[in-house]
Amino acid sequence: MRTFTGGISLSPPLKMLKEKLMVKQDDVLTFSPTMVFIPLAQHIGAPVEPIVAVGDYVKQGQVIAEADAFVSAKIHASVSGNIVDIVDWPDQNNGEGTTIIIENDFKYTNDFLTDAFDWSTAENKEIIAKIQAGGIAGKGGATFPTHVKFSVDEPNDIHTLILNGSECEPFLRSDAFLMQKEAQQIITGAKIAQKLLADPKILIGIEDDKPLAIKAMTAASADDDTIEVVTVPTVYPTGGEKQLVELLTDQEVPLGGLTADIGIVLINVATSFALADAVCFDKPLIERYTTVTGDVQKPCIVKNPLGTLAGELIDFAGGFQGAPSKLILGGPMMGKAVNTLKVPVTKGSNGVIIFNEETDWLYKENPCIRCNKCVEACPMRLMPMEIDQFYRAGDYQKCEELLAEACINCGACTFVCPAKRSLAANITAAKSKVAQLREEAKESA
Ligand code: SF4
Ligand code: SF4
Repeated sequence: MRTFTGGISLSPPLKMLKEKLMVKQDDVLTFSPTMVFIPLAQHIGAPVEPIVAVGDYVKQGQVIAEADAFVSAKIHASVSGNIVDIVDWPDQNNGEGTTIIIENDFKYTNDFLTDAFDWSTAENKEIIAKIQAGGIAGKGGATFPTHVKFSVDEPNDIHTLILNGSECEPFLRSDAFLMQKEAQQIITGAKIAQKLLADPKILIGIEDDKPLAIKAMTAASADDDTIEVVTVPTVYPTGGEKQLVELLTDQEVPLGGLTADIGIVLINVATSFALADAVCFDKPLIERYTTVTGDVQKPCIVKNPLGTLAGELIDFAGGFQGAPSKLILGGPMMGKAVNTLKVPVTKGSNGVIIFNEETDWLYKENPCIRCNKCVEACPMRLMPMEIDQFYRAGDYQKCEELLAEACINCGACTFVCPAKRSLAANITAAKSKVAQLREEAKESA
């Protein structure tokens, strides 16, 4: 198996923690709350505006917010019912953002197609319009609008489409479970994407700790010799875009460049599934599988409408085990610690993790002991402890010289640091500061 520079394999104590947090389940569990809280900020690109008002009745899948801009993603009602409020509500950045609240009537009235649309004979522009209408955005966490990704100027220049089935985060299993249960539809999404890109080969990268997903995806693609399922090592962050490209193709994405620059388009397996829903059934992105784990009574993977509150998913998982200390939306590496259970699950949230005081050792900060582990773990070959130090000192010039902007925010440095320094968070902040100062310098020039 190929590998990439840096990254981390879990140490024995972390392997034990992974075993403890790993959800093992066969049945699909679904949860639908009485209210959904749908934030408008769920994607990269132009912000959307509400097109509904308090009191309106909406069908499941109806557009409730959109923008004129091409680089944006529409927002849809995830359940049918009445709009009861449009308010500022807690968001994943520990602030507040405009949120549309719908009271669920549990009727799921919708206009989805029951017979699948024949995309194989459709014009590409019609297919892209369907993806855009479905508000599909990268479900792996990137939340970049998918229709933009497939609107490439020269589709013939794309030689490889990669499906990312590596999940990336050590304790999350949402994508692995989706692959086990919905492999055929994921492959349909990949074939639609292949048509849009003028028939590149398809590589599906799945980590070797997901044998059931590998089996299901291999079986679903067995009759297609343009698709190859490739087993990749379970080394974090294998599922990082640049790392997976390097592992599967031996090509390096240029610093500051895109995968398309080297003839590759990459999408997450859950995005491929949603893309097929939008194209085949006119069903927009309104639900997802979420891993609910950590110190909860019954860790599980739940199929839930977007806008479900983290606290309700924790209740669904049997409630807290021990005194709750930290709530993370996403995984332990790249997820965000949030300060309220009222934060809703959005297009890019693949996990809800709660740690109690005992498990929260992951986050107690101490002085740096210069062990160099963060440098060894960094897949971008950066010097995390140095950037962190200069960021804390307010020396952003040095952060720039140390290439803070190349950080992919994978969190590997924070995870391996024995002193539990907040490296990734500070380097991400340093990256924003460097970009902001550069913009300001440009404007004043
Ligand atoms: S978060 Fe950034 S600095 Fe830390 S290991 Fe990942 S890429 Fe390197
Ligand atoms: S891993 Fe932590 S303690 Fe070790 S050098 Fe990096 S910042 Fe310092």
